[in-house]
Parts: sequence; C-alpha cells; structure tokens
Amino acid sequence: MESQQWLTETERKFMLSKINPSTPPTVDELMQWRKAISQVASTSTPQESLVNLGIRLAALHNNGKVSDQLVQAKPTLQKIESTLGVISREAGYNFQSNRNTITASQATQQNFSTDELAKILDGQQADIIRKVKAIISDPEFQYVSPGDLDIYRARVLQWCKHLAGQGFGAMAYPKEFGGGGDMAAYFTIMETLSYHDLSLVIKFGVQFGLWGMSVYFLGTEKHHAKYMKDIGTLELPGCFAMTETNHGSNVKGIETTATYNHSSKTFKIHTPNEYARKEYIGNAALHGQMATVFAKLIIDEKDYGVSAFVVPLRDKKGKVWPGVKIKDCGRKMGLNGVDNGVIYFDHVEIPKENMLDRFSSVNDEGKFESPIASDNRRFFTMLGTLVGGRIGIPRSGNAASKSGLTIAIRYGDQRRQFGPEGGSEVPILNYRTHQRRLMPLLANTYALHFSLQYLTNRFLNRKEEEMQEIEALAAGLKSFATWNTTATLQTCRECCGGKGYLSENRIEVLKNDTDVYMTFEGDNTVLMQLVAKSRLTEFRQEFGNMNVFTILNYITDQAKTTITELNPIIVRNTDEAHLLDSGFQLDAFKYRERDILTSAAKRIKRHIDNGMDSFDAFNVCQHHLVEVAHAYIERIILEQFVLQVERTKDAGCKTVLKKLCDLFALSQIEKNKGWYLEAGYMEGVKTKAIRKLVNQLCWDVRQDAVPLTDAFNIPDQCLSAPIAVGR
Ligand SMILES: Cc1cc2nc3c(=O)[nH]c(=O)nc-3n(C[C@H](O)[C@H](O)[C@H](O)COP(=O)(O)OP(=O)(O)OC[C@H]3O[C@@H](n4cnc5c(N)ncnc54)[C@H](O)[C@@H]3O)c2cc1C
Repeated sequence: MESQQWLTETERKFMLSKINPSTPPTVDELMQWRKAISQVASTSTPQESLVNLGIRLAALHNNGKVSDQLVQAKPTLQKIESTLGVISREAGYNFQSNRNTITASQATQQNFSTDELAKILDGQQADIIRKVKAIISDPEFQYVSPGDLDIYRARVLQWCKHLAGQGFGAMAYPKEFGGGGDMAAYFTIMETLSYHDLSLVIKFGVQFGLWGMSVYFLGTEKHHAKYMKDIGTLELPGCFAMTETNHGSNVKGIETTATYNHSSKTFKIHTPNEYARKEYIGNAALHGQMATVFAKLIIDEKDYGVSAFVVPLRDKKGKVWPGVKIKDCGRKMGLNGVDNGVIYFDHVEIPKENMLDRFSSVNDEGKFESPIASDNRRFFTMLGTLVGGRIGIPRSGNAASKSGLTIAIRYGDQRRQFGPEGGSEVPILNYRTHQRRLMPLLANTYALHFSLQYLTNRFLNRKEEEMQEIEALAAGLKSFATWNTTATLQTCRECCGGKGYLSENRIEVLKNDTDVYMTFEGDNTVLMQLVAKSRLTEFRQEFGNMNVFTILNYITDQAKTTITELNPIIVRNTDEAHLLDSGFQLDAFKYRERDILTSAAKRIKRHIDNGMDSFDAFNVCQHHLVEVAHAYIERIILEQFVLQVERTKDAGCKTVLKKLCDLFALSQIEKNKGWYLEAGYMEGVKTKAIRKLVNQLCWDVRQDAVPLTDAFNIPDQCLSAPIAVGR
C-alpha cells in the first residue's frame, strides 16, 4: 500500500488503519461494506476476478465511471490477486444471494410410473395386498404403546382374532379344513402385515405358521381333522416349543423326553433338568392352550431321536394344565406384544395319537417305525418341512426395511441443512454421503424383494429332490435379508438425526422388533454354515452317495478346469459400458463364488489329509465357509435382479430397475473389492472406476428415490411417522 503512488495520503492512512489488528473495522462498518459488495456481486459470474469486482464497486460510487486512478492501479491489483490464488476468484461469488449450485439443484423427479412399479412389486398378489392394507389402515388397528405389556399383548391377540375372522389365518391350510388353500397368499399376508405392528406379525406367524404348520406338516390326517380348523380360527391358540435353554441352535441336542408306555398307550412328556426347559416360546406366557413340543422319543429305554408331540398347556379357561409350569419371559428388546414364555413339563401324560407321526411313529406292537431309516436324515427331513418360517421372516424383515427407507428418504428429501454461502439450504438427500448411505440400501431392498419372491416360488413349486437346495436358499436369504434389515434401520435412524430417535417416527420400534429376526428361525451365522456345507455337497446328486471327502476331491479337481485364466485386458477394463454390463457383473460374482468354494474345499481337505479331525478342520475354516455362503447368496440375488430387469416391459420401470440393479452389483463388488484385488480378478484402476460409478449411481438414484419408496405403497396410517407423512 505504501508503494502505491495513486493512493492519496489520506486514503493510505485510512486503509492502513483498517488492517491494523489493534484498530479493526467495527461490526457496523463491515456490514456496510458487505452490503455494498453484495450489490455488485449479485451480477457477478463465478469466474469474475476480485479486481473487476472492485473496479465495478468503485465505479458505482463514481457515477458509474471508472477513474484514471483505477486504470492505473489495475496491474498492481491483478498481481496481488494472483498472489492470493484461485480462492479469490470465488470470493465475489460468495456474496451472491441466489447461488445455483449443482448440489442444491438436485431434486426428486418422476421418471417412471410408481403405479406401474407397484404393480411389478405386487405381481399376482395385488388383490390380497390391497385387502390386508385396508384392514391395517382401519381405526381398529391403531397402534398401541408398547409401554403397558398387558394392554399391548391383549390388543395384539385381538388383532390376530380379527384377521383370523377374515380367513387370513387359515389362508395356507387346505380348503377341507376351512382354509384358503393358498400358501402364496399366506406369505404375502405376513409381509404386508409387516408394514403395521411387528408383534402382530410374529404372533400371527407363531399361531398360524409355526403351530399350525407343524401340526400340518409333521402330523397326519387324524391331526389335521382334529386341529387345523380350530387353529385357523384361533379357537385353539398354540405354540411351537422346540428351543430349550441349553439347546437353541443345536436342536438335535434337546433333552425333553417323551417316554412311551405301551400298556396305557400314552407318552409322558418330561423336562429332565432345569436347563431342558423350553424357553422363549411365543404364545406360551398367556394365551397358548396347546403346543407342538419337540422331545426325544424313548421306547423301552431306547432313544429314537427327536419327534414332535401335541401337548396341552392350558384348558379353555386358561388354567395351566396339571404337570405343566409356565413362566413369563417378561419384557424384551422388542416384540413386546408377544407373550414369550418358559415351559417345564413334569411327567405330563398325553395319548399315543398326540404324536405327530408323519416321519416317525409307534406301531400297534409298541415298536418304533419310520419311513426314513437314518436318524440324521429323519431329523433334517422333519426340520426341512418347516422351512416356511425362513421365508416369512426375511419377507417381513424386508418390509420393515421398506418402511425405514420410506421414512428416511422422504425426510432426507425435505430436510435442509447447510448450503453455499449466501445461498439457500440444501436437502440433506443431496449430500453425497447421505446418498452413499441410503441408496445402496434401497438397491439391496429392491434386490431382496425379487429374490425373496423367487425363493417363495421355488418353495411353492418344489420337487422332493430340490428340497436341500431350497433349504439352503432359504437359510442364506433369511440371513442376508435380516442382516440387511438391521443395517438399513440403523442407517435410517442416523440419517434422520434427532428425529429418527423419537419413538413417534417409528424407526425405534422397527429396529427393536426386527433385531431378533437375526436369531430366531435359526441364528444367521449358524445358518450360513449350513448353507456353506450344502454348497460343498452341491455335486451330491451327480455322484449318488459319494461321501463329503470324495466330493471335496472332486471340487478341487474341478477348480483346475472351471476357473478360466484371468484375462489381463478385462482385469483393467474401466469402460463404463463394460462395468454396467450385467454379463460382466454376473461373471464377477460367479468367479468369486466358485473361487471361494474351491479354496475352502481345498483347505478343509488339506487339513484332513494332514491328519486333522474333520470337526477341527471345519472349525479352522469356519470363517471361510461363511464367505462361501455369502458369495453364493449374493450371486443368487444378482441373478434374480438381472432376470427381473430383463422381463420388465415398462420402459421407465426398466430403466430405474436397471440403475438399482447396477448399484446393487457394483456396491457389492466395492464391498468385496479387497477380495477381488487379492485374487487378481481386478486391478486397482478397475476398483477405483467402480467406486466412481457407485458414486454416480447413488447420485442418479437419488432423483428417483422418493418415487421408488412411493412404489412400496405403504399406508400412511402404518408409517404414521410425522417426518414421513409431512406432519
Ligand atoms: C424373541 C424370541 C422368540 C422366540 N420364539 C421361539 C419359539 O416360539 N419357539 C422356539 O422353539 N424357539 C423360539 N426362540 C428361540 C430361537 O429360535 C433361538 O434363540 C435361536 O435358535 C438361537 O438359539 P440360542 O438362543 O440358544 O443361541 P445359541 O445357539 O446359544 O447361539 C449363541 C451364539 O453362538 C453362536 N453359535 C452357536 N453355535 C455356533 C457354531 N456351531 N459355530 C459358531 N457359532 C455358533 C451363534 O451364532 C450365536 O451368536 C425364540 C427366541 C427369541 C429371542
């Protein structure tokens, strides 16, 4: 400033005084300057230099004329500006009031018909979905606070009775027992009810699914004729009593006994020790009058393994049956509308016909009989018939994910925080991290919707020889989906900030109620091991009774031929068209699946060859085995999503589903990129390009996100979250 000849002495003194830290400009002065600068900056472009802005400002105070003094000063000022660097270029822009940033301009668009997409989601079940939605939107189904257990449990029972009265409970049962004969509709009812109260869903599932289906699938005509009608109308509330305190995942180890007495043609059901009590049993604490009890069948002091028996718990008036002791499990983390209980049996006598005798029975001579000779096979065949629960639960969990996402995405679209200096605040859904958190979960939820439909169809149209595969599919999808539900609801909670934490916004209850989905109907980690073991024996059909170790040998040999050499061009290919090609995506998923399966088989075999006990060998590789299951399930989910995109006719829906499918595929590859890099299937340039594309897809899907949740068509009464319905 001192060297600038064009400044007068007064000007120089004034300016130096303003940059002296001991005599700074006053707040009022700064506000005045800001106002004056904003006036000229309002017509500024992002690229306008500070010097130009200054000259225009000075001219404004000189009747619009640029003085000679300023012309003379310009080169020096430009030098100062360039020394300050590029930021100064932006400085003027920061004074503008209406800044049009790309971030702020992103908004919800209607690029496809939500009605068409809803039709695709609902498929042939649209009619039953509409009926169930109408019922749960009824004032009678208004939520009750989970605060008072007695009121809440009574209301949930009342809701179940209401649904039973409409024929929904017996929907899956054959028509001759008053049922609807429509298993597909039953699963749809479970799923649609899940937009409402999840205690209702589980109580409904325990009564009509676990209790009813166990009698149906494990029993024979006499049981069907005697019980099915009353179970379907809820005249006969019941339980499914398998788990014991000491044996949850390891059901084969249960200790409850059913001892046969041939002279009286009765069984005595007995809890031999404190920890053999049945625990967590739904419907037991208050309402159950009977239960399917799993117990070891003892005849002439010989143990014939686990069978199922119908055992009374209470009389019609609710009085507990002699010899039965029941305790209430009390308040739980969620699902407090369900009365879970602990049951002890003290030599409770039941008639012989109460044995559910489809897979094992006691003949007229008092001898054990079974169409399946092997204990192990009989046990797993029996459990296999109950696979329906592993279809209902993930479908319910995925519906809860849809509710959470609808709440969080609608909120994110409206809620504004921060913005460019001087500009208006921006919807939080426009922020990249917000999109990164929610959009892949939205893609997962859509992906799971289609793969759970596929699972349901496979189950409904099953052939005997496909059962093992369907069981593995159900176990894997149940685990993947319920883990995804928990992750989704946690993210939705955080994405709604403080509002997400308020009970009125529903995420709390959705989160708490679905948490146990990861544990019941089989603990997820335990189920994933079953899936992996089933994958290891995938060639069993081809090789008849080949034992597991010969199969391991076979897979190891296969590895040499099936895994093609890695193509050096493909591992580096970063073209967008290549990355968005579902052929490439499926190949990547399949390669990973096959490679992990093969390396797991090789590892187990090597340990066994080196003399390790097979139990230890499987344990050493347990983590690897769970990865086998993950890779398999991820491949199935992608395959089904790709097929869905292919068969979608409506152009708008096809485009948005393809985007979601790409996001699912690429975000899974991104999640597993460590593996792909380790395996040399992709190079760093390619995983980086995938990361960039995931960002772009999140950005694109954001515009469709609200209509994508609208297509779930969740009744407002069910969502009821003020932040979701704009109250
Ligand atoms: C709310 C609720 C309702 C329920 N309703 C019913 C019902 O109506 N009827 C019924 O019969 N049961 C019911 N259950 C029981 C449920 O099915 C069991 O809790 C479940 O099967 C898990 O058993 P567990 O609790 O003994 O866990 P555990 O088997 O003890 O598992 C504990 C942990 O150990 C791990 N683990 C176990 N085995 C292995 C292994 N081999 N390798 C590695 N890790 C392992 C698991 O992954 C898990 O993390 C209910 C449970 C709850 C909580």
